[in-house]
Amino acid sequence: MKDKISIVGAGLVGSLLAVILKKKGFEVQVFEKRKDPRKSEVAEGRSINLALSRRGILPLKMAGVFETIEPYLIPMKGRMMHNEVGELTFQPYGKEGQFINSVSRAQLNELLIENAEKAGVEVHFDHKCTDVDFEDNRLQFENGESIKCELIVGTDGAFSAIRKKLELTDRFNFSQHYIEHGYKELCIEPTDGEFLMEPNYLHIWPRGNFMLIALPNNDKTFTCTLFFPFEGSPSFQELNSKEEVNAFFDQYFSDAKALIPDLAEQFFNNPTSSLVTTKCEPWHKSRTILLGDAAHAIVPFYGQGMNSGFEDVRLFVEMAEEMNWEWEKVLPKYSSFRKKDADAISELALHNFIEMRDHVGDPDFLKRKKLEAQIQEQYPSEWVPLYSMVTFSDLPYSEALRLGKIQKKVMDEFLDQTAEIDFSAIIDRFNTLKQVD
Ligand code: FAD
Repeated sequence: MKDKISIVGAGLVGSLLAVILKKKGFEVQVFEKRKDPRKSEVAEGRSINLALSRRGILPLKMAGVFETIEPYLIPMKGRMMHNEVGELTFQPYGKEGQFINSVSRAQLNELLIENAEKAGVEVHFDHKCTDVDFEDNRLQFENGESIKCELIVGTDGAFSAIRKKLELTDRFNFSQHYIEHGYKELCIEPTDGEFLMEPNYLHIWPRGNFMLIALPNNDKTFTCTLFFPFEGSPSFQELNSKEEVNAFFDQYFSDAKALIPDLAEQFFNNPTSSLVTTKCEPWHKSRTILLGDAAHAIVPFYGQGMNSGFEDVRLFVEMAEEMNWEWEKVLPKYSSFRKKDADAISELALHNFIEMRDHVGDPDFLKRKKLEAQIQEQYPSEWVPLYSMVTFSDLPYSEALRLGKIQKKVMDEFLDQTAEIDFSAIIDRFNTLKQVD
């Protein structure tokens, strides 16, 4: 094989990058350890659906593939909260007309692979990468093949083989952290071909230290995900019999339980998976670079893992094009430029878990949301809530995090004010702190 751009991992990020680089005129080959997902069954209990938002949509449009994906998306206008007696409260995600989109990870991946092949990318399944020679720009595969590459992009996910090789090199920093919670998926089947809950919302059952969420699928099912501690009380460790599972759901999620007749069977048949944050730097060495989860895996609570990976692709290609595809210069520049944003979304994602599971229903949080809505209504261009900056804009994550911290500080100062609120004073304070913080 002649020198080409080689992408390791035909997941979401790798297949999208392949389409774009191919359309830019490069010869692109992708190596994927799995079999072709279009020809194999999805593993039981692994029907993950994802929330796709603006940062993910822009690169899909850049690749010219969004119109093939749009028909598979289900808009979600906000959070639908379920309390312990099944009462519902709605919280919009943004302004009227703003929404995020539920999409099946497996379906999206297949569509992207399809698009890559259509564009002329060679996708080699059953090719597990086992080694990289950074000096010779050479990849080694489990089947004995070895190829020399013009550029190597590691998009091989949170447990990246390329990153593991980088870990053995000098001055490469790496850390990983498992949170104390894991997750388990459960399915709400349709009845008479219809959704059993309102489909255009992300349903949440916030319960303090744990929560259940549900996102709609095209086949009218909902994928529910229980985020729950591995140990302690209550925890996965405590639920060992059908009776224990049923009693637990009766106590905390009775309305959801009523929609899952085979709850205990699903609970014990489906795997319990862990959640990890990984950080590393630099993301490059000679002509190899990491993108997506391989560079920065985050917990899923801001719905930004894939979105940030897709944004990596857009920023990487835009920068490379501007720098005339001089990889020796592009790789270090991109790696140092993007790192602060990956760290910011990692922090935001961990924090959002606490907000989703613990705060969304509490009075202080609701008071804060109300105040924020009022400020935004009066000063829509000057005060954009943190969730909107992350989800509905392409402001760098690090800037969204910085502004969000200042907004919190300002709201803390004005929240308990008994006199009538002076919104212009809030904006003045925000603008002042923005200059100095
Ligand atoms: P992956 O999708 O993991 O793809 C990596 C690919 O590399 C795989 O195909 C793998 O088989 C292949 N591979 C691995 N090792 C090798 C090797 N040695 N050789 C060759 N190939 C290899 N993100 C969102 O944006 N919104 C959400 O709402 C959201 N919800 C989530 C919910 C859950 C429960 C989880 C777990 C994640 C969620 N995410 C979400 C995160 C999202 O799934 C990931 O960020 C995204 O899949 C990362 O894409 P990737 O291409 O970097 O990695």
